[in-house]
Amino acid sequence: MIEQVAAWLQESRHTVAFTGAGISTESGIPDFRSPGGIWSDTDPVMFQDFVASAEARDEYWRQKSAAYREYSEAKPNGGHEILAAWESRGLLQGVITQNIDGLHQQAGSTEVQEIHGTARVVSCLDCGFRDDAGKWVGKYFETGAAPRCPSCAGPLKHATISFGQDLDKLVLGNCSRWSRECELLLVMGSSLAVRPAADLPVLAKQTGSRVVIINRAPTALDDMADLVIHGGLGDTLATVNAILPQVEHTAQDPRDG
Ligand code: NAD
Ligand code: ZN
Repeated sequence: MIEQVAAWLQESRHTVAFTGAGISTESGIPDFRSPGGIWSDTDPVMFQDFVASAEARDEYWRQKSAAYREYSEAKPNGGHEILAAWESRGLLQGVITQNIDGLHQQAGSTEVQEIHGTARVVSCLDCGFRDDAGKWVGKYFETGAAPRCPSCAGPLKHATISFGQDLDKLVLGNCSRWSRECELLLVMGSSLAVRPAADLPVLAKQTGSRVVIINRAPTALDDMADLVIHGGLGDTLATVNAILPQVEHTAQDPRDG
């Protein structure tokens, strides 16, 4: 199966990676739905509550500031690094990620669509002011209160998509386009339970792409995929990468039949 993935990667003229929390667990960031994952002991703050209530904003900042420490100390792992290397070798055209940790970019990936935004930045819901998140997390730890925008006093929030919040239309449009344009979609480390993100592999498949899923646990879309590998990402990607040079390149568009 690993040889098949390597062969498809070599022959595809347009490959996109679609990643979830599972690509960052080997950097020490817990995922959501594995046992011991983030939601096993925390209830998320819904976007509507964040907008409506000062208590909800304080609770949001309490949760997000703790999580930010985890993200800001984490380093990219071998999986992130292999995807960045494939981009620079021209084997991968981009990464669509559900992650908010910024580790793909830290590893060197430049073509990245963050469908759920980024925790590295905060933005004002009223005027769009944006700033480095670390500074505002520091202020939260000093005061214990949700910070307000320095230019308009509106509520500051991490530039991530909360439950109940609309996705960024521009980013979602780019993700849809990439999913339609690719010949190979490598889906990695996602339970594929969150929509509309999980619709993207379906869109890719419907528009003629091969879809490979690499994930420890079974996913909602395993039946639809051309190939499924149930395994750890670091090891699996390292093995694909190691055999890549020996795989013969036979450029053929799967949509040619
Ligand atoms: P998820 O928790 O629903 O699923 C993660 C999947 O990855 C699981 O099925 C698990 O079996 C698999 N997995 C975990 N470690 C793995 C490894 N080393 N190798 C292979 N597979 C592994 O996560 P999701 O599908 O991304 O959806 C949850 C939402 O959580 C996303 O919207 C994302 O924004 C958010 N989230 C992000 C981070 C982050 O930025 N690092 C962390 C947690 C949650
Ligand atoms: Zn503002």
